[in-house]
Amino acid sequence: MGKLIIKEKILSKNSDMAKQLRNKFKNTLVLNFVSSPGSGKTSILERVLVMLKDKYKLAVIEGDQQTSNDADRIEATGVRAFQVNTGGSCHLEASDVERGIAELGLDLDLLIIENVGNLVCTAAFDLGEDAKIIVLSTTEGEDKPIKYPTMFRVGTAFIINKTDLLPYVDFDIEKCIEYAKGVKPDLDVIKTSCKTGEGLQELARYIEKMIQIKKG
Ligand code: MG
Ligand code: ZN
Repeated sequence: MGKLIIKEKILSKNSDMAKQLRNKFKNTLVLNFVSSPGSGKTSILERVLVMLKDKYKLAVIEGDQQTSNDADRIEATGVRAFQVNTGGSCHLEASDVERGIAELGLDLDLLIIENVGNLVCTAAFDLGEDAKIIVLSTTEGEDKPIKYPTMFRVGTAFIINKTDLLPYVDFDIEKCIEYAKGVKPDLDVIKTSCKTGEGLQELARYIEKMIQIKKG
């Protein structure tokens, strides 16, 4: 079999499973957080989930190639987490989410999936989520939205993190937003910093609104 055919088979098997997951997530908002490594996804979740955990039933599936460090960090906040180690693989697949919910159950208002740090193939693998949330930090290139347009095209919200570092880095935040909106005009943009706390309440409210819309 050709390489391309194998890839198509894997993707179509994944889409079938994602469809089944989506049917199960009738009352659960599922958000797939994607980014490059080191953008601060786990730090954002640690801060925002504590704002939501007393009001909503929530859990996190953590994807990393190795270690359970991030799941341990989430659990330290009192939110349940399930760690998936992907080993050689650079993205989560629907089957990983299936394993996660087998452990966490479906009695949830919100399920967060923190994907493996990667902006390329994570765009191609549907996890049954309601929305993909893209995180980029100010220590990265502001042109990532145009370098990785596939991801930005399938994203719903775009978080620009580590805004506290803006005075020290060559990151043109307005240019970055312009690039992102050029790829996807209706992308919601939220600026955050886990140091100053900027945008974290806004993000919590944004997620809360999505939970309410999902529940109708
Ligand atoms: Mg992480
Ligand atoms: Zn991958």
